[in-house]
Amino acid sequence: MEKVKYKKSLCVFCGSKNGNNLIYKKAAKELGTYLAKNKIRLVYGGGSLGLMGELASSVNRNKGDILGVIPKHLLQIEGINKNHGEIIITDDMHTRKKTMYNNSDAFLCLPGGIGTLEEVSETITWFQLNISRKPIFFLNINGYWDKFRVLVEDIVSAEFASKDLLNYFTFFESLEALVPSLLSSLEIDSKE
Ligand code: AMP
Repeated sequence: MEKVKYKKSLCVFCGSKNGNNLIYKKAAKELGTYLAKNKIRLVYGGGSLGLMGELASSVNRNKGDILGVIPKHLLQIEGINKNHGEIIITDDMHTRKKTMYNNSDAFLCLPGGIGTLEEVSETITWFQLNISRKPIFFLNINGYWDKFRVLVEDIVSAEFASKDLLNYFTFFESLEALVPSLLSSLEIDSKE
């Protein structure tokens, strides 16, 4: 039987570690199942470690589509056969980000470390500079991104950014809460 093609692509930024609470891993797994079952392709950093690995394994187990984009220096650390689905190998981190961007319709940020923060911050910056209009969401599991939200509000209060900055991305406390906005931003009919 021919595989049904994915409808849209969601780029997910998340940690290459699991964090100190199993709730993060559980959320990554739950998201992976959801993406596969709803035929939304996962675009991600291509790794097999931490939440990134958990998410990709979950999509793969549920027979979903995956595009991993990994720079060659990380590939040496990861080993190619540990990756799932299609893989693009880039020369460097900058090309990786651009490739992830070009192949995605929207962005979702899960808990993660400084790499995750850097990736989502750059995506928000592109929105601020009008280079991008692709939607950006945060899955605020366990209130993980609360302090980031306060930081952004402080940046606006200190007038280092316009109030518009607060409209460039949206926080959701659970996958269930995120789904309607995600589907509508990807123009996927929830009844399909
Ligand atoms: P962090 O949030 O600091 O764990 O970083 C997550 C991001 O770091 C990923 O999206 C990658 O850019 C990068 N990264 C760190 N380690 C790896 C790895 N082993 N494989 C792939 N990407 C990694």
